[in-house]
Amino acid sequence: MNHNRFLGFMTTGGGIHLLVDRDLCYGCGACVMVCPLDALRLMGWRAVVDDEACTLCDHCLPSCPVDALSMEAVH
Ligand code: SF4
Ligand code: SF4
Repeated sequence: MNHNRFLGFMTTGGGIHLLVDRDLCYGCGACVMVCPLDALRLMGWRAVVDDEACTLCDHCLPSCPVDALSMEAVH
C-alpha cells in the first residue's frame, strides 16, 4: 500500500489522522518503539495514538508487521 498518497493532505493540515486497526493490531509494540514523539502507546494489547502528539510523520507505518496502521481522513 502506498501511504504517501495522503501526503498532500498531511502537509496542508487537512483532516487526516493515524488509525490503528484494532482487529489487526496484536500489541507487538514495534510502532511504539519507532515513534520519535512518543505518540503511540500500548493499552490492553492494542496500540493507541495520541492525536495531539502525532505529526503524521509516517515513520511508524512500515514498522507494523500486520499493516494495522494507516492514515485516514476524518469525517
Ligand atoms: S505518524 Fe509519526 S508521530 Fe505519528 S505515531 Fe507514527 S511515528 Fe509517531
Ligand atoms: S506495530 Fe502494528 S501490531 Fe504492533 S502494536 Fe503497532 S499497530 Fe499493533
